[in-house]
Amino acid sequence: MSSSELFINFLTQRGVLTSKRRAELESVIVKQQGINIVELLVRGGFVSSEDLARWEAEFFNLELCHLKNPVSETALSLLPFEIARDCGAICFSASGRFLKIALVYPDTENMAKLRAWSREKQLELEYAICSLADYEKQLNFYLVKEPVTRKSETKKDEVGEIEDKTWEQMPIDKVVAVVLREAVTQKATEILLSKEKDRVWIRFRLRENLIPVVNLPLDLFVPILNYLKGLAHLPLSIKNNFLQGEIQLQINNQAQTFDLKVLESVDKEVLSIKPRISESAHLNFDQLGFSNYTRNMIEESLTRKTGKIVVVGLGGSGKTTTLHALVNKLSGFDNHIVTVEKNIENSLPGVTRIQVKPEIGLSYERIVPEVQRWQPDCLVVDEMVGGESSAHLLHSALSGTPIMTTVEGESIVQGLKQILKLDLEIYHVSAVLNLLLAQKLVRRVCSHCAESEVVPNNISKKVLNILSAVPAEHWPRGLDYNSASLYSPRASGCSWCGHSGYSGKLALHEALLFDDRLKMELSRIQKGSELNELVERYLTINMLQDGLMKALRGLTTLDEVFSNCEEYNII
Ligand SMILES: [Zn+2]
Repeated sequence: MSSSELFINFLTQRGVLTSKRRAELESVIVKQQGINIVELLVRGGFVSSEDLARWEAEFFNLELCHLKNPVSETALSLLPFEIARDCGAICFSASGRFLKIALVYPDTENMAKLRAWSREKQLELEYAICSLADYEKQLNFYLVKEPVTRKSETKKDEVGEIEDKTWEQMPIDKVVAVVLREAVTQKATEILLSKEKDRVWIRFRLRENLIPVVNLPLDLFVPILNYLKGLAHLPLSIKNNFLQGEIQLQINNQAQTFDLKVLESVDKEVLSIKPRISESAHLNFDQLGFSNYTRNMIEESLTRKTGKIVVVGLGGSGKTTTLHALVNKLSGFDNHIVTVEKNIENSLPGVTRIQVKPEIGLSYERIVPEVQRWQPDCLVVDEMVGGESSAHLLHSALSGTPIMTTVEGESIVQGLKQILKLDLEIYHVSAVLNLLLAQKLVRRVCSHCAESEVVPNNISKKVLNILSAVPAEHWPRGLDYNSASLYSPRASGCSWCGHSGYSGKLALHEALLFDDRLKMELSRIQKGSELNELVERYLTINMLQDGLMKALRGLTTLDEVFSNCEEYNII
């Protein structure tokens, strides 16, 4: 019996859980494996956070500590934030190499992680129990002080701690370097500088949320603006509504490119600086969030030696990321892959990449037939554009070169319609199609504050009705069509996610693997409505169904899925 099962027995014996409540609790645990027992008990309203901590202290025979007030900053910062977050632990007191650690729940996995860390640091840990509420309060102090605790070795550059006088005495290039280095270290995706009343505000976009980092004396705004404009070779004197450029700086001994945008209007001046992220940083196939079903389909399509794989998505849906992930996956098979792309920012190992530059005659039309003569194992074109180049692409595919490309659209049906708009013959297209993969991004629920809740009856009926068309073997583990109630997350909001309840993105997919029967039927299609019917008949899991199953697995909310898949609701 696991420690959490024993603990639940204990709570039942003590009368904290009635047998009815216990049965409810266990049905939730079965559905959502790996769920944190304390969060479940407290957020599910089974027992209060304070009471639970008292019962835990008794059961595990550990001291109970109350952490109502902020613990000392020194003690807090001894335990790295990542460990505090992942293990539900707070260091609340320290003396020499002896640390006192308060735990939300002392399960074996967390204890093992802490033990490994303390052994490496040669520290001795002593454990106590604290309530979930107290823990969350203390964890928030980390977030406020994150730059401080994370970078205690570079004290003089703690951005939030620097005083006005120091900023004013610092050379402007140093001011910019300090701010940008902090942004890169914190993995900010955007740095915003704006004039607000009598200060210059600097905010970082962290995990999709805008977080204030520091504010500077107003006098510094113009010098910073001019310095950055100078670096980006933008005109200093001309006040334009909107300027954009690119700057290169050495950050932490690495060349880093930033995209700079300057917006000047009568009442507002805003500077946006975005570090360019290297492509390989987000190319991991496993991180794209494919369900097992979609992943198997993609893997099968990659083993086929001919045909065409098309990724369908709108701008900003991450379809290029997915395309590169597929290329990465294929390049592992020892293949010669050639890509033809508009933007090349970084190298993909083992892949030949050619940049399209129409201004010097290197157009898609010119490059594609040329590359085809090299007989690559796979030809990747970042986007299917109209005209001659798509005809060349089709010709390459017909003559046996595997092709990967993308097309605009929100669904497989839209993607197919888009391909057919390119003046290609439907029997040619159907002959070469191998896999169509459509993708859409939705917001991922914040794992720090999401609460699992019972789905209301009417919604639950709707969800089960939509999922009834999906074969049971593809359902999330633990989901039972006849079960009394479904659970899915509710977006609550905390300091981690900027009180939005969401953090990061999640891709929803639908995929169609072509076999001879489908190719034959597609080649006989006469009009659009027949296409809808055909795709619907062949699609095992559509994007709405994929999204609903991801919501039931706790990755996003049902609301987020429904509002992003409106075109499917009619099914
Ligand atoms: Zn949150």
